[in-house]
Amino acid sequence: MSGSILPLGGLPLGGDTPWLGGLVTARAICLLAPNPSPMTLDGTNTWILAEPDSGSVFVVDPGPDDLDHLGSIVAATAGRRVAQILLTHGHSDHSDGARRLADLTGAPVAALDPMYRYGSEGLQGGMILDVDGLVVEIIATPGHTADSLSFHLVADGAVLTGDTVLGRGSTLVVPPDGRLGDYLESLVRIGALIESTGSSWILPGHGPALADPLAAVAGYLAHRHSRLEQVRGALRAGAVTADEIVAMVYADTPLQLWPAARMSVTAQLDYLHETN
Ligand SMILES: [Zn+2]
Repeated sequence: MSGSILPLGGLPLGGDTPWLGGLVTARAICLLAPNPSPMTLDGTNTWILAEPDSGSVFVVDPGPDDLDHLGSIVAATAGRRVAQILLTHGHSDHSDGARRLADLTGAPVAALDPMYRYGSEGLQGGMILDVDGLVVEIIATPGHTADSLSFHLVADGAVLTGDTVLGRGSTLVVPPDGRLGDYLESLVRIGALIESTGSSWILPGHGPALADPLAAVAGYLAHRHSRLEQVRGALRAGAVTADEIVAMVYADTPLQLWPAARMSVTAQLDYLHETN
């Protein structure tokens, strides 16, 4: 396993198979946005959720404000009504296209953070949405950001995790509002949901859908705990600043990713200070 923490190869989950999106479960189609990068993997996954033969759909994470991509979302809804546009969180690679898609479709934009809502009272953990019998439970999963939500697509045994669990690699806890303690609790919450409902899919915000969701969550938790152990080791070895810890713990990570690694180390130091 490589030592890198970021989406470029942290965990052997999802492998290196290219991801193109498409129909994954009976009620979930992924349209891949054209914004690939080291931080967004293959691009942002826009999910269209609908009961088969229903006249209404939910769109999750329209992605960047890209006219071609938004046009393909409209085309994929094929004359059906977009009931709501749901955001897993406010980061621009998920939300930038939301308002234009709202204007194109007449659908409101629902998010936890009021800043990203548009014509909607928004979303909270514990809410249950229903469009033409398609039931989606909203799960609060803060950590990557404070406003991160996951969506449980009950009928398909699938959990849409946004950037909380990715299709490959590992995700970033982004300070200041992203907090590692929250993140670890959110992973445990997702794992418990998958276990109690027998869910069989994670549909992530980037990268391939995961058909072994419990193993994915367990891998994420193990990775976080081993990173924390490495940071504790670096502190014992005399590292003081976040930069010194990055140089020790992320020595085999490409330099271009060190700024992101530094964010992660900062989140880990905050966590260690809070829990010690
Ligand atoms: Zn993202």
